[in-house]
Amino acid sequence: MLHLQNYIGGALVAPAAGRYLPNVEPATGQVFSQIPDSDAEDVARAVQAAEAALPAWRRLPAEDRGRLLVRISELIERDLERLAQAESQDNGKPVSLARTVDIPRAASNFAFFGTAAQHFASETHFQEGVALNYTVRHPLGVVGCISPWNLPLYLFTWKIAPALAAGCCVVAKPSEITPYTAYLLSELCIEAGLPAGVLNIVHGTGPGAGQPIIEHPAIKAISFTGGTKTGEHIARTAAPMFKKLSLELGGKNPNIIFADCDLQEAVRTSLRSSFANQGQICLCGSRIFVERPIYEQFREQFLAGVAGLTVGDPQDAGSRQGALVSEAHLNKVLSYIELAHEEGGTLLAGGQRVQLEGRCAEGYFLQPTVFEGLAPNCRVNREEIFGPVVTLTPFDTEEEVLGWANGTEYGLAATIWTRDLNRAHRVAHALQSGIVWVNTWLHRDLRTPFGGMKSSGVGREGGLEALRFFTEPQSITVKL
Ligand code: NDP
Repeated sequence: MLHLQNYIGGALVAPAAGRYLPNVEPATGQVFSQIPDSDAEDVARAVQAAEAALPAWRRLPAEDRGRLLVRISELIERDLERLAQAESQDNGKPVSLARTVDIPRAASNFAFFGTAAQHFASETHFQEGVALNYTVRHPLGVVGCISPWNLPLYLFTWKIAPALAAGCCVVAKPSEITPYTAYLLSELCIEAGLPAGVLNIVHGTGPGAGQPIIEHPAIKAISFTGGTKTGEHIARTAAPMFKKLSLELGGKNPNIIFADCDLQEAVRTSLRSSFANQGQICLCGSRIFVERPIYEQFREQFLAGVAGLTVGDPQDAGSRQGALVSEAHLNKVLSYIELAHEEGGTLLAGGQRVQLEGRCAEGYFLQPTVFEGLAPNCRVNREEIFGPVVTLTPFDTEEEVLGWANGTEYGLAATIWTRDLNRAHRVAHALQSGIVWVNTWLHRDLRTPFGGMKSSGVGREGGLEALRFFTEPQSITVKL
């Protein structure tokens, strides 16, 4: 059986205490690897390695740092198929999705920040004849990056790449539920010649390996993506130490469909924004609001599309829906389906666990599920389910739908479908949402700020925002 190792000080090493955890393949329910059950000792060693690597890494010209990151990007592209298979096996997502979305994006993250490092400029404020003020941005030092299981390598690299580009050294922890591609990445970093200790990857549980990262006094910042509750806990622990925090948290995103939209395109994209990655993307639009004149037409076409979403072995080319990430998560999503019934919802599609045959007989599969008739403020419409479950609700006015859309504690992403440009801008500006898509979904330009409002997070990732996060500005004033 495959034994993953930590990546500390440039080498693949066993956990200090020698303990391992089983890692399950969600499509089969079988253990397929053992991962280090790391603890504070492993984190301490990782921090020590990062501190030792820091002086040389931060001194390295941005161009040289960038060259190494681009090299890692090229190696990810070279190993695309192997990484896609690993991601699918570890997470349960269709391998076709990992091949076209997760792994290419992981490569782009390194290429993007590898080159961005060279374009990161500081500011000068000239006071005519009096003084020259300029800002230097110093790398923060050793930083912690903690990522979730839904887009494992995609989100892991989205944090690590800008941190390294900015001149920081990193101690990173992937989710214990999906550690495989992070392990393969450590092999690629060794091959790329990344200096020892610049990046350290410690595997293990949140309490066992994550907690010592957020508590370690030498770690200057935490970049975290995950659930809102965990984010709250991290903020409570790290804030009194004055650590810089970037928290990308949960969402309950509205998908607002006006009657004047391109209906065919709205249906096609809404199928993706509802069920891509089995609905386990923080940006999925789980609350679909449809303007009343087209409600029935939308519902009919949408349900026809849902019927075509084959649930199957993630390795099969024909599978559109793979397995949910774990049995515990499947049970959580099923409990929300039960709640939707209790809250008076009408089930339009799905609602049941799927029992496959053969290799996947023990896998965690669920039908894509659609409810209607639920109150906009019921729990199912307010709480994050993070699975293939969406609700349909008709609306009559812009004001009404805006009230509902903004009526949750979250504010991560929203989608608007309309041909009316004025309305698109007006509604977008009124939405309490860090990201708004008009007539599209999951369209990402890596230069744009990414993050949520309200309980969806603090701070922004992406482009210069990420490089700013991982650096400390220093103002220098020279009297003329
Ligand atoms: P969790 O918050 O459970 O875990 C996220 C990461 O934090 C994991 O690596 C986890 O480790 C770790 N962790 C858990 N406890 C601690 C702790 N005490 N100290 C340090 N680290 C800890 O989230 P999930 O993995 O369940 O991911 C799903 C959530 O992520 C959803 O709420 C989703 O909305 C959100 N998300 C947000 C995104 C955004 O950009 N806003 C993007 C993608 C997802 P382990 O798993 O090993 O326990």
